Amino acid sequence: MRVAVAGGGWYGCHIASSLKAHGVSVDLFEKNDCLFSEASGNNQFRLHQGLHYARSAQTRHQSRDGYHRFAERYPKLSTPVEDNIYLVPKETSLIDFDTYFSIMLSSGISIEKVPLNSIEHIDVERFEGAVRCQERVVLTSAARAHFAKRLNGTVNLNHAVTEVRQHSDHVLVDGVAYDYFIDATWGALPGMGNEMGRVYFEPTLLLYYRLRDAIARPFPAITLVDGDLWSVYPTEDADVFTLSSVTHTPLGRYDHKADAYDRLAAIDGRLVDEKRGLMEAEVRPYMPDFSEVFAFVGPQLAIKTKPKGLSENRACGVVMNGRCFGVQSGKIDNIFYATDRILGALL
Ligand SMILES: Cc1cc2nc3c(=O)[nH]c(=O)nc-3n(C[C@H](O)[C@H](O)[C@H](O)COP(=O)(O)OP(=O)(O)OC[C@H]3O[C@@H](n4cnc5c(N)ncnc54)[C@H](O)[C@@H]3O)c2cc1C
Repeated sequence: MRVAVAGGGWYGCHIASSLKAHGVSVDLFEKNDCLFSEASGNNQFRLHQGLHYARSAQTRHQSRDGYHRFAERYPKLSTPVEDNIYLVPKETSLIDFDTYFSIMLSSGISIEKVPLNSIEHIDVERFEGAVRCQERVVLTSAARAHFAKRLNGTVNLNHAVTEVRQHSDHVLVDGVAYDYFIDATWGALPGMGNEMGRVYFEPTLLLYYRLRDAIARPFPAITLVDGDLWSVYPTEDADVFTLSSVTHTPLGRYDHKADAYDRLAAIDGRLVDEKRGLMEAEVRPYMPDFSEVFAFVGPQLAIKTKPKGLSENRACGVVMNGRCFGVQSGKIDNIFYATDRILGALL
């Protein structure tokens, strides 16, 4: 069996490598000059347990299960966050602390309550409660190297798939015949289950900060829930964190991925400064000494593909249409869900 996969991010690489492990002949096409060059290499790098998703049981359950599978299957591609805290603010959370706590407990996610006065650098008066939970940081550089090695001989970089034509007994991908085609471009190719109207494309801006030398380590990962709030989370360099804001990270909403790429290309220093001002102003009421703790490093740009709807559903889905599969990626830890569905259909 010959299978073509488009997209060299987490989903394309994991699916291609799983197919290869089952003896399938795979060609992976990536339009850029290296693997993990888009969302997979530019995100918050959080291996989620589901604590972000009080309003979507499906996303919570997929994350909880994917978290454990990921840690078991790829033990060298993530590392534990030493101190990982979720805080529920008094006035700005959509749900109260007891409701949040009950949802997470009933979802089988292992959490413990944390006394607010034990958490440094926050204004305790602004919070109703806090929980500590084990989560991990995805090690993107190690992942890129891992898949480059695993997929040696399979990857075609600088090759954007432009034409996919289905026939009864094969599919032509840029004129070459395969038995099946898998679109793992996170929505860049139309007609693969990401039809216009079902998803939208959101260019994003996160900010990198470096922990100042004088600050005691480990500095906690801090995430405010639930609603239009913010988080600081470590990266593969334990002294570098990303700041993400539900309000200020999105840079628009587009029906076509090409328009989202154009939006990213138009970003300049002025916009970064403006966003930095807004994001730091959002954090400061909760963490007054943010600027004494962190020094600004620079922006990180990417594109999210999101299903339309209000439930905050970030679950993963796979659509099969004849000999073509379309993957709607969820979080990184949902790669197993997508791969199980594809292997189940093909093997
Ligand atoms: C700001 C941000 C923060 C996030 N934070 C987290 C987080 O903390 N934890 C988490 O689990 N998830 C997070 N995510 C989601 C996570 O990044 C995605 O789930 C994951 O990267 C999706 O992987 P993918 O392989 O589907 O997509 P991508 O990584 O986008 O890969 C798609 C690939 O397809 C390629 N491509 C596009 N068009 C073509 C073509 N025509 N031919 C060939 N190749 C093509 C692209 O170049 C790209 O490399 C975040 C995302 C963003 C944007």
